[in-house]
Amino acid sequence: MRIREVPFYRLRLNQGEINSVVETLRSGWLTTGKTAHEFEQEFADYVGAKHALAVNSCTAALHLSLLASGIGSEHEVITTPYTFVATTETIIQTGAKVVFVDTERDSFNIDLNQIPAAITERTRAIVPVHIAGLPIDLRKIESLRRKYKLTVIHDGAHALGATNNGKPVGSTADFSCFSFYATKNLTTGEGGMITTNSRRHCDNLRVLSLHGMSRDAWKRYSGRGSWKYQILQLGYKYNLSDINAALGLMQLRRFEQIQKQRRRLAEMYHHYLAEIDELVLPFEPDGTTHAWHLYIVKLRNGGEQRRNEIIEKLRSLGVGTSVHFIPLYLQPYYKKHYHYTRRDLPNSYAHYKSVITLPFYVDLKEDEIKYVAECFKKVFARDSRIVR
Ligand SMILES: *Cc1c(COP(=O)(O)O)cnc(C)c1O
Repeated sequence: MRIREVPFYRLRLNQGEINSVVETLRSGWLTTGKTAHEFEQEFADYVGAKHALAVNSCTAALHLSLLASGIGSEHEVITTPYTFVATTETIIQTGAKVVFVDTERDSFNIDLNQIPAAITERTRAIVPVHIAGLPIDLRKIESLRRKYKLTVIHDGAHALGATNNGKPVGSTADFSCFSFYATKNLTTGEGGMITTNSRRHCDNLRVLSLHGMSRDAWKRYSGRGSWKYQILQLGYKYNLSDINAALGLMQLRRFEQIQKQRRRLAEMYHHYLAEIDELVLPFEPDGTTHAWHLYIVKLRNGGEQRRNEIIEKLRSLGVGTSVHFIPLYLQPYYKKHYHYTRRDLPNSYAHYKSVITLPFYVDLKEDEIKYVAECFKKVFARDSRIVR
């Protein structure tokens, strides 16, 4: 088969996954019920957390975790600018102020060593993101949490399956948030999960996720519930339906297989791209398990214009790519309300101007990976108009 096109993303569900959704549709119970609860339990077991709450997105998971931590307008929350906007918009929605700390030079993750200098008496929490699936140092963040008495809310949207020093992302304090958006390693179409080791937090999150109501609709509408409920708090409508949970449960039960395949694909990319000197490839440091959510390469000689031209060349050869991430301080909203510049956060800007995210999904074929590598070679070899 001659490859002419490699799309940036492609999803294929298996028959078992499709059947489980159809069974849920036939069961007569569509909203949050026993399938969502089963998904929560198996998910908590998988990441090694005591409790889990299923919600309808990772954005909702982050928002609820911040609210359950008591974060509001008098607080500052430290996070990275090198992330998807859900990480910061939820902080701002609580009324708190976002404080950006730059990434490391050699990884896309927040530089934990720069956090102490950003802490003030208003700092209440840190939201680290495990970019592309590479986990941050969980022991280091734990020592910052203890030393400065801060809440840690992990944005684990990329990091299901990642471990650091033997600990899975999701197993540590205080909260960890996961995404089951269509392109994530485990998907429910739309969906998310919060894990925590605190029963009190989990009970509180559950109440917040369903209108601040004292008992959930599942119990209310099943034979075991009653009509009576109380509104305990100002709540939200963030629960996950059983339709989504049915898909999530099936994906979770073959997640080890999914991750094995993603690891194989990452190794194939390493292999076929190794000889291209212009590219810096992602790696897995000792003591970590990379979750391989994204495969992001860096140009050794980056520059926005050159990078953009290469993306265009690849597109003309049929290869779909993307850029993860545009640092948030470059976005109009953040320029208007915050006043960070690329000079304040140079590492994240240096990453931004050199990165290209490659097609990376379970259904990707070895021939397609070879094709992507060939296209890179063609682009670097033939096009002398691309400024070096
Ligand atoms: C996908 C993503 C989110 C948001 O996930 P949703 O489930 O779509 O709300 C949050 N943070 C990061 C880093 C993401 O990539």
